[in-house]
Amino acid sequence: MEQFWSDIVTTYSPLQIEFLGTLLVQILSFWVPSACYISLDYCFPSFSQRHKLQSAYKQPTQRDLYECLRVVLQNQLLTSAVHFVLLLLVQQGKPSYRVTSFLPSLPELTRDIILSLLLREALFYYGHRLLHSRYLYSRIHKQHHKFTAPIALAAQYAHPFEQLFANALPISAPPQLLGSHIVTFWVFLAYELANTATVHSGYDFLGGKARMHDAHHERFNLNYGSIGLLDWMRYFQYALGYLTLIVGANSRHNKLFTSHPAFADHPFPTIPIECPELGRSGTYLDKDHTSEGVGLIPALTWPSPADDFDEYLLISEDPDAPIPESVIHGIYYRIPREKTGVQNPDFRVLNNSPEKYMLRGGFKYGQNRHGTVYVPPSPFFGHGPHRYFFELIALNNSLETEAMNDLVTLDEVQRAIQGKVAGWGEWVGVFESP
Ligand SMILES: [Zn+2]
Ligand SMILES: [Zn+2]
Repeated sequence: MEQFWSDIVTTYSPLQIEFLGTLLVQILSFWVPSACYISLDYCFPSFSQRHKLQSAYKQPTQRDLYECLRVVLQNQLLTSAVHFVLLLLVQQGKPSYRVTSFLPSLPELTRDIILSLLLREALFYYGHRLLHSRYLYSRIHKQHHKFTAPIALAAQYAHPFEQLFANALPISAPPQLLGSHIVTFWVFLAYELANTATVHSGYDFLGGKARMHDAHHERFNLNYGSIGLLDWMRYFQYALGYLTLIVGANSRHNKLFTSHPAFADHPFPTIPIECPELGRSGTYLDKDHTSEGVGLIPALTWPSPADDFDEYLLISEDPDAPIPESVIHGIYYRIPREKTGVQNPDFRVLNNSPEKYMLRGGFKYGQNRHGTVYVPPSPFFGHGPHRYFFELIALNNSLETEAMNDLVTLDEVQRAIQGKVAGWGEWVGVFESP
């Protein structure tokens, strides 16, 4: 074995070894097993029927199969072409992995394979969850989900972008990062390709290995990973998320706008804010009130004031983002004191107004993180639940905005309300990315 390998290394260039060897591994560990799985249906139909995970009427037609073959061949060509160009032009003939006349030792091979498996799982899991975000799903990942009852070849039935960045990169990068031997990479690649053909095969062989990913194709929103480690860990993330929610709700969060020194004389809320359409503070937001739906602002109501003051200020913020400051979703100021609530139409921009950034509700908006009127909640997936605070602040003097930017910033507002706070109230909506 050692001699055979050493002959190969002395006969061929590293570029030839890496390119042709990788192609050979792809043929042997993906195309051959896929062909075997698919031919079962034709050669042994009754055996195949007995072992299919999903019912016969859901299975792809012959036409689907040809379409799949065409796309997968294209993707194979694309991957090989990119590999070749990288090797020849970018790396100028230098191999991406270690090509030496010695084979890797068994301990080294084992260590690199285990680490590569874990790294690949993380890259694939988070990449796959990102592909399920609304923006990327409709543009890219929808193609891979065409097969709700997958077949082996459908493993690489995907948009070219997905093929390169979610399929090829998470497999090729880990052994490169570890500086692995090329043979280690091939063993890893062979395992991953045979595995992906198997999990898409639609059969209950190998202890039902396909069951988990088959269910992902059938029902979309579960089992994002490949070995299931991170899917399992997600439950810990849930638990952690709820724990921070409970702790956070009990101790006032020092990131919040209302924990600023301007509120020193008013540590507790005094204005009761309600949201009749969603429920009491702490309620989960429905889809329409998040970026998953149309992104409505919760309609809020409050009683007409007994005290004498000038106007209201409304801030919407998320203190649970994993960054040092709250994410600002909206700033609304000069809300007339006569108002006892805000509705969605109030937040439409008033065109033809002599004043810039004026809204239909008779008040103005300031700068949020996107420079829009409002940013609907869309927390980072897997980060657990986030709280979206809507803080209404009564000011006993109007905000002096002459010296401020046209689109006022949170800092400017914070400085300007010093000594003007007459009272405040809050309503909190909760949401987490599905
Ligand atoms: Zn998916
Ligand atoms: Zn799949």
